[in-house]
Amino acid sequence: MSMDRRQFLKIAGISSILGLGATAASATHNIWVKGLSPEEAAKNPEALSAKHWAMVVDMSKFKTDEDFQKTISACHTTHNVPDFGNIKDEIKWIWKEKYENAFPDQDNPYMEEKLKEMPFVVLCNHCENPACVRVCPTQATFKRKQDGIVMMDMHRCIGCRFCMAACPYGARSFNYRDPRGKKANGELFIKSENKEYPTRTKGVVEKCTFCTERLAVGKLPACVEAAPKGGMFFGDLADKNSEVRKIVETRYTIRRKPELGTGPSVYYLIGGTEHA
Ligand code: SF4
Ligand code: SF4
Repeated sequence: MSMDRRQFLKIAGISSILGLGATAASATHNIWVKGLSPEEAAKNPEALSAKHWAMVVDMSKFKTDEDFQKTISACHTTHNVPDFGNIKDEIKWIWKEKYENAFPDQDNPYMEEKLKEMPFVVLCNHCENPACVRVCPTQATFKRKQDGIVMMDMHRCIGCRFCMAACPYGARSFNYRDPRGKKANGELFIKSENKEYPTRTKGVVEKCTFCTERLAVGKLPACVEAAPKGGMFFGDLADKNSEVRKIVETRYTIRRKPELGTGPSVYYLIGGTEHA
C-alpha cells in the first residue's frame, strides 16, 4: 500500500476525534452536512459524527452521460479503484444501473421500455441489517456501531466471497487481479494513484465506504460533491434537522429491494425536489 494502513486509520480516526482535519479541509468544500463551515466543525468535533449516515439521490438531476461519469469517476479516482479493462473483472464502488435491474420489484408489465432502461446511480446501501456482515467468517466486513457505515478491513478479508453472494445489490467487487499491476499495453490499472488513499491487493473484496476518510475531516463524500447540483444529499438520518431527514420525511422516496429487510440507507427521491 502506498499509505501504511495504520497511518491511514490514524489519520481518519484521530483527526475525527480531535477535529483537526476540518481545519485542513479545503475552503472550497462547503461541506458540512449540518451546515457548519470547516472552521466551525474544527471547533466542534462532535459535529463530525452522526448516528446514521444516509444518502438521498435525486435522479431527475442526472441529465447527461457526463453527469454520471463525473460522479462515478470522482469516487473511483479518489479511492484508487482499478480499471482492469474488461467487464468480467470490473471493480465498481458506484455505477450506473438500469431502472429495471435496480428496482425489479417496482416493475409493471405495461412499463415502457425507455423507462425500464433509465439509468440510476447505485452503490453500497450501508444497510441497517447487512446480509454481507452476517455471512463474513472473519469479520472483515462489519457495521460501525457509531454511525451505521458498513466497512471492509482488507487485511482480514480471506477472499471467500460469501459477502458477494449474500449482498442482494451486487455492491461488492473481487480483485481477481493485482490492482497495482499493468495491462498488456503497459497502462496501469490505477491510472493516477491517489497517494493519500490505500490501494488493495489481489484476492480481496472491496466496495463503497461512504467516504469515511472524507467524513472524518468534515468533507462530503466525493460522489456527492461531484454530482450535479441537487443530485445527491448526504447527512445524519437520525438528526431531525438534517436535509436528508427532511427529504425522507416529506417527499416520496424509494429504496432498493426493501422487501428483503436489509434496510438500505440510500434513498431515491421520486418526482424531483425543490431541495436543489
Ligand atoms: S448493499 Fe450489500 S454490501 Fe452494502 S451493506 Fe447492504 S448487503 Fe452489505
Ligand atoms: S460515498 Fe464515497 S465511497 Fe461511496 S460511492 Fe460515494 S464517493 Fe464512492
